[in-house]
Amino acid sequence: MPETEHDLATMTWEDAGDRFLGADGVVVPTGSTEQHSVHLPLSTDSLRAEHLSAELVEAAPDHDLDLLRAPTLPYGYSEHHMPFPGTVTLSQDTYKQALIDIGASLAEHGAERVIFLNCHGGNTEALALASDRLSRDHDTTAHVVHWTDYGRDELEEHFGDGWGHAGDHETSFVELVREDLVKTERKEPQNARDLPETTSWTYFSDVSEQGGLGDPTNSDPEFMESVVENTTERILEALTDDIDAGW
Ligand SMILES: [Zn+2]
Repeated sequence: MPETEHDLATMTWEDAGDRFLGADGVVVPTGSTEQHSVHLPLSTDSLRAEHLSAELVEAAPDHDLDLLRAPTLPYGYSEHHMPFPGTVTLSQDTYKQALIDIGASLAEHGAERVIFLNCHGGNTEALALASDRLSRDHDTTAHVVHWTDYGRDELEEHFGDGWGHAGDHETSFVELVREDLVKTERKEPQNARDLPETTSWTYFSDVSEQGGLGDPTNSDPEFMESVVENTTERILEALTDDIDAGW
């Protein structure tokens, strides 16, 4: 796992106290422990959160931002993946409350902003509700950055449709940072159904037999490296725009 000089986890409480004073915010990376088809590990989203948050806090000083980084939360809301062994989910209420408690702790130590860097789509509803509570009830401003939203155009242009869960994009990323965890011989086009228009699928096993979408054999870790760089820049620009505008 990548370590940075901005990590709360490796600081003493005295060092953390000093750093809180000057920091613009604390990044809380949010991942999941859930199935990612037959070729990627259960930690895929948490690996992404861990690495992408490191990229973010390290590039922040180039944008005159000083960001600290809290440890990655490796569990999220993954109930829809429970038919697949190894998936662990928090209930919506527990997850929302955990996000509020983490943010409130950071706010109590003086975090001006709590920036959730999210790498799992299932977490977004709880994140939105938790952020509302944090901004209203605690002396901090909560931000939610769903990483993929800032890379979407580039990913779509390169991979076309269907690069979602455990597909072209996530396979490329895990190959970039932890190639040893990819079961190359199990990579195959995912046998996924078209998604319904007027209802929600109940479990992901109803959508995809293997557990993924898209075609992991299209993976392109070299391309992914440039997407990470560009997306990190776009996120930092969006954050500085919001902060400069007084949000
Ligand atoms: Zn994922």
